[in-house]
Amino acid sequence: MSEINASVITIGDELLIGQTIDTNSAFIGQELNKAGIWVKRRVAVGDVYEDIWNALDEEKKYSRLIILTGGLGPTADDITKPLLCDYFKTRLVRNESVLAHIHHLFVNVYKRKAALSDANIRQADLPENCTILHNEHGSAAGMWFETENEAGEKVVVISMPGVPYEMKKILVQEALPRISAYFGGDIVIHKVLSTFGMGESMVAEKLVGLESRLPSYIKLAYLPGYGMVKLRLTGRGNNRIKLEEEMNHFYQQLSAPLKDITIAENDDTLEMIIGQLLQQQQKKMATAESCTGGYIAHLITSLPKSSSHFNGAAVTYNNEAKENILGYNTTHWRPWGQ
Ligand code: ATP
Repeated sequence: MSEINASVITIGDELLIGQTIDTNSAFIGQELNKAGIWVKRRVAVGDVYEDIWNALDEEKKYSRLIILTGGLGPTADDITKPLLCDYFKTRLVRNESVLAHIHHLFVNVYKRKAALSDANIRQADLPENCTILHNEHGSAAGMWFETENEAGEKVVVISMPGVPYEMKKILVQEALPRISAYFGGDIVIHKVLSTFGMGESMVAEKLVGLESRLPSYIKLAYLPGYGMVKLRLTGRGNNRIKLEEEMNHFYQQLSAPLKDITIAENDDTLEMIIGQLLQQQQKKMATAESCTGGYIAHLITSLPKSSSHFNGAAVTYNNEAKENILGYNTTHWRPWGQ
């Protein structure tokens, strides 16, 4: 079984000071996991040359796939590209097809009248020894480098822009097919059971013994949320049929003792489950909300076709609104904690 580990390095001062939440790592982790590649480490570094360099050196010790995002823009603080040139001992050369793409974006997509600036044109200057990963939505191309670690094993380093929607498209369309072809990779199967109304430790008591019976390649994770606990079994292997059989076997052992508190045999959210139940039973709902400020209605209506089971919401925040709109007697009503 070939086990390939990955590291994700996110670059940008804004990530370190909390101005931007790092959603790229989560997306990359999910997508790599589906492809059978385990993200072993995630590192965030600022826009500092030595820090990015050191992060690359360090992650090469742990992972055969290193994915970087950020710092590829045309501004002075975007230092990833010159750094990668130095790191991989190469030079920048102008790529005419990337230049044509940048031109197309500015003229046809951004509808800019002015000619491309030098900074825009320099986006088409890319390291000579990388494979270019086309960025359909932006001017900063993705880059694929191959190198070796100290053990002489092949290591792939991929650099992509930080803008999430650009990065996602490059990862899914350009990088993942190449990663799968390059490394092969295990099959990963997830199975999720959603429970409601019982705390994590009580759920765990009902599953005593199951974890010790699981083989090393099948793991059980507890994912507690508000009122809910999701149980996720994750199996890795290289024989899909055998792995699926084993996963089904252990999933039954997981679900049997929890059948009274099971609300879904999948990873659906509570609002999805409510919508499905209402549609099955041809019923409708409405909400009268106070402290939640309409948040329940927001969740329900965030799903397509929710108008078929959701009538509407009354957000009655102060007592006057509760009395006037809902006809609710607030004389004895006390907000939480008072
Ligand atoms: P650009 O061409 O836009 O400059 P870039 O590769 O230089 O692309 P950054 O400048 O690092 O990317 O970031 C661009 C935008 O993407 C910023 O708004 C930044 O906050 C956001 N971003 C960067 N990294 C992440 C991340 N890990 N998760 C979510 N958003 C991110």
